[in-house]
Amino acid sequence: MKDRRYARRMILVTSVAAGLLGFAAVTPGALASPYSDINAAAQSGPVNLHRLRGGISMLDGSGGNITVLSGPGGFFLVDTGIAVSRAMIVEKLRTIAPARIRTAVDTHWHWDHADGNGWVRAQGADILADRVAVRRLKQTIRIVEWENTFRPKPAAELPNVIVSGDRTLRANGETIRIRHYKAGHTDGDLSVYFVKADVLSTGDTFWNGQYPFIDYVSGGSIDGAIAAADANIAMATRRTIFVPGHGPAGDLPSQIAFRDMLVTVRNRVAALKRKGMTLDQVQAAMPTRDLDATWGRSVISGNLFTALVYRGV
Ligand SMILES: [Zn+2]
Repeated sequence: MKDRRYARRMILVTSVAAGLLGFAAVTPGALASPYSDINAAAQSGPVNLHRLRGGISMLDGSGGNITVLSGPGGFFLVDTGIAVSRAMIVEKLRTIAPARIRTAVDTHWHWDHADGNGWVRAQGADILADRVAVRRLKQTIRIVEWENTFRPKPAAELPNVIVSGDRTLRANGETIRIRHYKAGHTDGDLSVYFVKADVLSTGDTFWNGQYPFIDYVSGGSIDGAIAAADANIAMATRRTIFVPGHGPAGDLPSQIAFRDMLVTVRNRVAALKRKGMTLDQVQAAMPTRDLDATWGRSVISGNLFTALVYRGV
């Protein structure tokens, strides 16, 4: 029952977010689920290209952000977005160079980051991912908040290179460090750091200016999310450009502000829960009220984020 209630809230939140983010206009009664709604938003586009530094760009508009390293060796991507926006992604890549995709890394298994795996692999690219993320892609997983049951991916859409330990690659004159997080957003999250350009792709361990989703079904937790944010801060320099999982490209102060917000909400919700308050009572106390104008204007509302934190404290 409780989960169903979160799900209803997500529909409202998502329809509001659709308006804020300029998604196709939708009426609440017409929504099938947040999952299909977000797919529809990706399908209608646009996909936007943001040039960052050192041959690295960021694409947004296909679910999670996609990092693109370009050069004579072909494209190196971090995440593959949602499959329905393939044509728009290809069109944007062509504006950078007439190259093909050689390699991609899935930061984690979620469909808004890995759904494009099939078409990227069909181009002959290798896709790297964490061992647990690959296992998740082979499972049937119900994510209540997205109102969707994810089915096992066919072999042709799975990553074909499993990253067990840390790994360093060379591509287009860049040194690319792939590192594992401890369980945070999920239990199979990877970061990708481009050393020369000093660009760090964090996957969904960082939502710039937004409350994050935390996937408890896949081993995530608020404490793990805080530890992952701390790891991002430790990896960064003062000039690092962050490509977050969602939201605009960021810098170290924006990553620190995100970590501090996580800690603040965690401590507030934990204090209320320690008093014996139910989730409904904690939500009624509105522990994120003063933060919502800054952080709660996208897919995850303060109310939903409170519920996600409550589960983990
Ligand atoms: Zn995610």
